[in-house]
Amino acid sequence: MKILFLDQSGKPGGAELCLIDIAKPYGDRALVGLFADGTFKTLLQQHSIPVEVLTTQAIQVRKQSKLLPALASLILLIPLLIKVVKLAQKYDLIYANTQKALVVGALASFLARRPLVYHLHDILSPAHFSQINLRVAITLANLFASLVIANSQASQQAFVQAGGKSELTAIIYNGFDSKNYQVSDAEVQKIQAELELTGKFVVGHFSRLSPWKGQHILIAALAKCPPQVTAILVGDALFGEQDYVKELHQQVIDLGLEHRVKFLGFRSDIPQLMAACNLITHTSTAPEPFGRVIVEAMLCGTPIIAAKAGGARELVEHGVNGFLVTPENPRELAQVINTCLQEKEIMTTIANHAQSLASKNFDVAIINQQIAQLLQKVHNKMAY
Ligand code: UDP
Repeated sequence: MKILFLDQSGKPGGAELCLIDIAKPYGDRALVGLFADGTFKTLLQQHSIPVEVLTTQAIQVRKQSKLLPALASLILLIPLLIKVVKLAQKYDLIYANTQKALVVGALASFLARRPLVYHLHDILSPAHFSQINLRVAITLANLFASLVIANSQASQQAFVQAGGKSELTAIIYNGFDSKNYQVSDAEVQKIQAELELTGKFVVGHFSRLSPWKGQHILIAALAKCPPQVTAILVGDALFGEQDYVKELHQQVIDLGLEHRVKFLGFRSDIPQLMAACNLITHTSTAPEPFGRVIVEAMLCGTPIIAAKAGGARELVEHGVNGFLVTPENPRELAQVINTCLQEKEIMTTIANHAQSLASKNFDVAIINQQIAQLLQKVHNKMAY
């Protein structure tokens, strides 16, 4: 089967990293069509996945867009749509990996008479999207998609609650290759020395810098922790959240934490950095659709504290394979960090347990097989 994957992003967020794992086994039978140029294209090329940038014109619809600007930008999509319809003739299935990809993919699937699969990496709720964006996504998915792959129960439930047809949905978690998360002691020591972290209790935060990812919650919690606790913030503002970045730097200065917080920007050596941390925190203020970083922390054998909402609740069982804290509560987060600092043995037991569970439950080979079976079913149905 030949698949045309569509993704709107030029930069690699969680949905894009997940797409690499899904598209890779298809080799030359796949093409990833992007709606923006950038580092994601390079990453796909490094993985030998065929890729084409289909437009370089920015699609202005934002997550909170209102009706008129949304309609105006639809008109701008026409040349892109024509290109996708032409391309789709050469493929058996269109796989939309993001919301703008769904809009173009849905219309193209209708015009090119190709089945559409929508991989839902978002929680379609008013906390994340405007009413108009929600309605467009749900209507197009209901009308045109043969299958909606939700990345967690939380995403699936939000989809159905917003009016999506539940019979279209299948829940499939992101897959990971646990081998990629095995890091040697020598690598850990090297990175700790490079970043001047040796001897410190390092708390990591791995996410693009964005208000809802809640880096400010970790900084506020850090001020309530003993001085040997240091934080590394890994990730960049991928979607223009520069004001938030400034606010974070100011917060660090205001709390006198300049020597205890390091901003590392976007990094590609996530396993090494995670393994170099004593603890990893996930502090999203709105429900996380899945939370790749949570599973990645587990695979690295580093204990994870996650905000208790959305997909994180499906991944973490408090006190068993990690810890859950109330979202937006720096005091509670600081308490759990302090407990972890003192209870080293319990932490090691929990982290080891999480590592072996995660490598079984999120095995990319099994997850790719599940997706391949679902796609085959969609393809077979269309063939009749
Ligand atoms: N990530 C990365 N480099 C960074 C920060 C994050 O490669 O500097 C990766 C991280 O390891 C994870 C993904 O970006 O795989 C983020 O996925 P997640 O589901 O946590 O959040 P999303 O970006 O999808 O909201």
